[in-house]
Amino acid sequence: MDLGIRGRKAIVCAGSKGLGRGCAMALAEAGVDLILNARGADALAATANDIEAATGVSVIPVAADITTHEGRAAVLDAAGAVDILVTNAGGPPPGMWTDWSREDFIKALDANMLAPIAMMQATLPAMIERGWGRVVNITSQSVRAPIAALGLSNAARSGLTGFVAGTARQVAPHGVNINNLLPGIHATDRAISLDTGVAKAKGISLEEAKAERCATIPARRYGTPEEFGATCAFMCSVHAGFMIGQNVMLDGGANNISI
Ligand code: NAP
Repeated sequence: MDLGIRGRKAIVCAGSKGLGRGCAMALAEAGVDLILNARGADALAATANDIEAATGVSVIPVAADITTHEGRAAVLDAAGAVDILVTNAGGPPPGMWTDWSREDFIKALDANMLAPIAMMQATLPAMIERGWGRVVNITSQSVRAPIAALGLSNAARSGLTGFVAGTARQVAPHGVNINNLLPGIHATDRAISLDTGVAKAKGISLEEAKAERCATIPARRYGTPEEFGATCAFMCSVHAGFMIGQNVMLDGGANNISI
């Protein structure tokens, strides 16, 4: 299917690895030029080269912490006006409700709520002016089905979801669509780090922790960054013009939620 976005320009935040990289590659395969961000310059440069070599689009890497004002300014300066924004950042650590201080909450809110909101506030005006735009926020299945150990993530991402629910309706009349993409468990570094935590807590191996988790997923496997990226690219396509303010979950059927 031609996604109808060849020649468009996108910012992909936190995109050197994992789900962000999957989204960047899929958009590039659809012919979208990229401003690609992550903190670590080496992995970012390697991913930018891989994507350029595989697709022939232009990829401008910007090594910066997207949770800071300075980091966002660097990305936005390099990008100028864009048609597509994919927001993303690292996820907060798991723990107990007794573990977290005000500073921990502020950090989680900065990464998983306030950074995506700031990126939307910076990029939406030009999309509205041109009458076309797409925003996909990478959030989590924990928005729909909160995970006990991920209190920081549950809290911050719920705030972002609330912001999107209202804002998506405010910008839709201008041809700008905002939606959220909710990963269930996917095979990335983040999944390895979560499984390592479970393995340690239960005194089992990493492979056993992964097998236990797979057994709870009807698809009996983890999702892939490629599948995730393809869904993101569709949500940024001309074909998703009637999709407004949705929370699209990719979880292999793990959460038995009827709507
Ligand atoms: P990942 O494999 O660990 O990749 C994270 C990417 O984000 C890397 O490119 C990393 O590069 C970049 N990054 C992290 N913090 C950043 C920051 N402050 N500024 C700029 N770039 C940053 O993680 P993932 O699995 O793709 O997860 C992406 C998001 O989805 C996370 O918020 C995660 O919690 C959420 N999620 C993932 C899963 C899953 O199963 N994988 C499930 C639910 C939710 P640098 O470290 O070099 O900056």
